Amino acid sequence: MKRQVIALFSSLLLCTASMGQAKLSENVIIITMDGLRWQEIFGGADSLLANDTAAIYSTGYVKEQFWAPSANARREKLMPFFWSTLQKEGVILGNRNNGNFFNNANPYWFSYPGYNEIFTGFPDTAVNSNDKIPNKNETVLEYLNKMPEYKGRTAVFGSWDVYSSIFNEARSGLLVNDGYRDLPGKLNERQVLFNSLQHQMPAIFHGGERLDVATFQMGFEYMKVNKPRLMYFGLGDCDEFAHGGMYDSYLDAAQNFDDWIRQLWEYVQSTPAYKNKTTILITTDHGRGLAEGGNWKHHGQKIPEASEMWMAAIGPSVKAAGESKTKQQAYQGQIAATIAAILGKEFKPAHKPLPALKLD
Ligand SMILES: [Zn+2]
Repeated sequence: MKRQVIALFSSLLLCTASMGQAKLSENVIIITMDGLRWQEIFGGADSLLANDTAAIYSTGYVKEQFWAPSANARREKLMPFFWSTLQKEGVILGNRNNGNFFNNANPYWFSYPGYNEIFTGFPDTAVNSNDKIPNKNETVLEYLNKMPEYKGRTAVFGSWDVYSSIFNEARSGLLVNDGYRDLPGKLNERQVLFNSLQHQMPAIFHGGERLDVATFQMGFEYMKVNKPRLMYFGLGDCDEFAHGGMYDSYLDAAQNFDDWIRQLWEYVQSTPAYKNKTTILITTDHGRGLAEGGNWKHHGQKIPEASEMWMAAIGPSVKAAGESKTKQQAYQGQIAATIAAILGKEFKPAHKPLPALKLD
């Protein structure tokens, strides 16, 4: 069965490669929000959760901030950039109500296996824990960073302190700023402030995960100063708040995420180094369960819906198709080869990656 799937992917790859991308980009930005459900992306605040009488969060706040009678109005309220500019100029995949499916190909449905799949294109069954094990698989960022155009112009900013293992920082030599690490080197005044602020914010997630506002601002400032050509923002507030049962804060985090993407896009389109030659890819590492029974808080193999996800893209290599109604099944593992294809490169690591998605 597995061999047949691989054979199918191989023929898709040939077909995709021979058609090529309509318009190449020179830069790619990837931004992910850990465990943000497709249900909120396409339907806004969940009616069951907005009215949950046993909630430990404020249903009053959820209604006041995010409620509207129709799902379309709710999603516009929650993610206004997604449902205006991104919908008009980009593409949004994963609305299962349209028969448009986007899933994990790996069988685990939690973080490290998800990020490994996104960036290596390889749903490796040996990657089956969140432990800080240096990734033996090569990511597309490590692969591209060996090319002269991208060498030293690739950066990873993540809230979770496992990204340095996922991107095998020691082997890849990529710039990885994760957990509570300070940005080293010669810094401007804002960067010095951000280094200091991250240690003064409440460490509400405990362990090695900082709040996304620190990750985003540190990464965004790094972009403005250094103009990397390959940039990754790995955010995590939604997953943390969902695990904690705090649906009000989970929605706030989704709304911040949407606004940070707006800021990125507006910056890209007003900066000569990036304008009209930068594509932004947006996704998540896994899904979560349904509202019923409180399963929205959880994910992993025991939660049947936790492999259900979404992705979005905007930029010159992306056709303005809006919310996709195409009946298809795509996987997060296709993103690695897509990143390379958008840049006119072919991702050929030692393992066999899933084929690129066609976004143009
Ligand atoms: Zn996760």
